[in-house]
Amino acid sequence: MGLKTGILGGTFNPVHHGHVELGLHILKAYSLDRILYILSANPPHKINQDIVSQELRWAMLSLALEPYPRLQPCDIELKRQGYSYTIQTIHQLRVMSPDDLFYFISGSEGFLKIRTWKNYRELLEAVSFVVVLRKKEHRPLIETLLSEEQVPLFQNSTAQGERIGVSIFSYDSPRLSLSSTLVRRELKAGGNVDSFIDSKVKNVIEEYRLYGD
Ligand code: ATP
Repeated sequence: MGLKTGILGGTFNPVHHGHVELGLHILKAYSLDRILYILSANPPHKINQDIVSQELRWAMLSLALEPYPRLQPCDIELKRQGYSYTIQTIHQLRVMSPDDLFYFISGSEGFLKIRTWKNYRELLEAVSFVVVLRKKEHRPLIETLLSEEQVPLFQNSTAQGERIGVSIFSYDSPRLSLSSTLVRRELKAGGNVDSFIDSKVKNVIEEYRLYGD
């Protein structure tokens, strides 16, 4: 029997409490054994942003996840040359852990742009998705997209099981609106980010003077 494994890709520039809280909610709701936090090396959709080196983003991600053994940093995209595409990552994980059942986790704002992802049709057919509702108004948009793409929408995590399709997962939290962009902006303005990020992550930011002017 393989593991039930969630996959959460991100730039984590830097990782914040919203990322961790998301993982903890999904672990529980879907009874997952682990969630792999896959650090993007070279995200094709974020080429114009100020992205800190992968070594430092990896260090921050590892520190933030350290207290939670089921939330695991994963470096497979860092070891690859060129842009990283989700479909390649899924194929690679399948080879590495052939018995695992995978759930690809995405925030609703990202999922709504799925038609811009490389080989998105293949991706929708290759892996089950958990779409986290970042805003209530995203729900009808996701439903329309899924019906246009003729992808099954599961009403709950139990119905999803081993079948390929999408479930929408929602929870209430003030941290849902937190983003790395907000953290970077606050840091640049000299604001206080203590309620947004782990103190160990903050230490790295201060030590290497990241995200300042
Ligand atoms: P940026 O602001 O730099 O675009 P981000 O905070 O959205 O970054 P990513 O690294 O792009 O972070 O996010 C990785 C994944 O985590 C995405 O699927 C995203 O939707 C999700 N996510 C980000 N922030 C939150 C949050 N506050 N609550 C729940 N999910 C989140």
